[in-house]
Amino acid sequence: MQASAVQNASAPAQVDMLIVGAGITGLYQLYRALESGLSAVLLEAGKGIGGTWFWNRYPEARFDSESYTYAYLFSKELFDDWRWSEHFAAQPEIERYLNHVADRFDLRRHVRLDARVTSAMFNENSGTYTIESSDGSTHIARYLVAATGVLSVPFYPSVAGREDFAGESYHTGLWPSTPVDFKGKRVAVIGTGSSGVQIVPAIADEVASLTVYQRSPNWCTPLNNRPITEDEQLGLRADYTTIKQTLDTSISGFLHEPYKRASTDDTLEERQAFYEKLWNSPGFSKMTSNYSDFFTNADLRKEFSEFIAGKIRGLVNDPATAELLIPKDHIYAQKRPPYATGFYEAFNKPNVKLVSLKETPIQKVTEKGVETAHGVEEFDIIVWATGFDFARALQRMGIRGRNGVALEDAWRDGPSTFLGIQATGFPNLFFPGGPHGAAANNPRYNGDQVDFTMELLAYMRERGYDVVEPSQAAEDQWSNTVNAMASYSPFSPEHSYYFGSNIPGKPRKFLLNPAGRGMLFDVMAKSREAQFNTFVMSQGRACIDDSETASATQQTGEQS
Ligand code: NAP
Repeated sequence: MQASAVQNASAPAQVDMLIVGAGITGLYQLYRALESGLSAVLLEAGKGIGGTWFWNRYPEARFDSESYTYAYLFSKELFDDWRWSEHFAAQPEIERYLNHVADRFDLRRHVRLDARVTSAMFNENSGTYTIESSDGSTHIARYLVAATGVLSVPFYPSVAGREDFAGESYHTGLWPSTPVDFKGKRVAVIGTGSSGVQIVPAIADEVASLTVYQRSPNWCTPLNNRPITEDEQLGLRADYTTIKQTLDTSISGFLHEPYKRASTDDTLEERQAFYEKLWNSPGFSKMTSNYSDFFTNADLRKEFSEFIAGKIRGLVNDPATAELLIPKDHIYAQKRPPYATGFYEAFNKPNVKLVSLKETPIQKVTEKGVETAHGVEEFDIIVWATGFDFARALQRMGIRGRNGVALEDAWRDGPSTFLGIQATGFPNLFFPGGPHGAAANNPRYNGDQVDFTMELLAYMRERGYDVVEPSQAAEDQWSNTVNAMASYSPFSPEHSYYFGSNIPGKPRKFLLNPAGRGMLFDVMAKSREAQFNTFVMSQGRACIDDSETASATQQTGEQS
């Protein structure tokens, strides 16, 4: 294929790889594609680079994975010359970092912003995709990589009158790039997931009043963020090789040390002292460095939850509010727990109050505010911190594979994938960071998927193949394993958006990889050792050849 991404008025642009999404995974995929000599274009719906970290720019949006574990590890020079200011960086710094990466590796000239993909049709004869986007461009690409993320389609609940509100309203996942002025305003925040618990303490001091509408409380524990000291900066650089090795192989994708002891090794008193240590430890280490039986022992998680409940009662002055903030419907880690700074303490401020929607559901939104059984409360601003439709972006892009089948229809009952990378019937479509792939610190898993894809494409290139999809057997095995192992996941189907439970009508299917990175590595290694026999490879025609007479030469595909 011609390595030309430049489009003229009369012909679609041709490119080896078209990537969708300028988030952390899409930029890495672009870097790897260019490095391997492919021509590549990246289309991004937003007006800037950053993906999640472009759209989620609400006050106090920040990492809850350590900055240097979430960031790229592919370049020691990049690791050395970027100084994260805090262990958990805030959105502006993350956005600056991703722009820095785009500039440092000369990626920007391959990126088209403000270009939302509207359709992507697979051409059987040529083995390519024709991709149309909202900026009027058409591309023909050999490979289509949808790095569209899983938490990228904001979800608005269908509350009557939502559109009638005459004040300002925002979704945390679609935050405007011009600053929102909260000063002296009457503000409602609806939702208390990871986004809600970050924005509440961030705006509590400047608003006239803040009403937090909570449907289900979460087990929110302290992020324990702090600046990275000069010694730590030096240590990070000195330890790059070890850090990279740990993050490239660790099951969780974190640097947190797993704890060797089981809860039964300790007395109740010792356990309480350990929980206190965990409470003061950074971010996800409350899960990743908890007792070795943490994920298999529900009694332990109940006890840990009780410990947190005690903390909430100690932090919130009003006992009734404290009780409302303590989850009663799930134990710790049955849902993805949020991490924040000062969330519970915010309710001690005289201008902040909690409305529990379990007792008083929202009846409707009116022109002036939010109506519950207690009447209408008037607001200047409503913030919808109501989450996302997991992995929806991939399905609403208008992708059609073999025989014109839409991905949306193929996945009507939930996703079916091999390694969370590809799906049968959709040759040359890859979706790193999509469903069935990750189970912990996302960029590490997504990077594994990009690396594996590039290995597969290199193998194919050496042998003259350029059309690939997983074998049906490989996909069935992976997807059946995901579905079968879902019941071993600590996450609860009733409560976790990982099962699609937050979206009315969405099929209840597990959307992560419940067997974790170990299984991902294992199946990738087996596929690699067996000359990628979990895939069916063939030769397509030249990209611009749309002749109906062309026929692909099928070569491999020993079913695993
Ligand atoms: P979320 O965890 O899905 O939380 C959505 C919130 O909206 C929940 O409290 C939910 O209540 C509420 N809600 C939904 N529908 C509602 C309705 N009809 N009426 C009232 N409340 C309603 O979404 P999120 O907070 O945006 O977080 C999503 C994910 O994004 C996180 O789990 C995390 O993976 C990621 N995230 C990460 C960071 C970070 O890294 N620092 C920050 C933010 C988000 P119910 O629980 O009752 O459904």
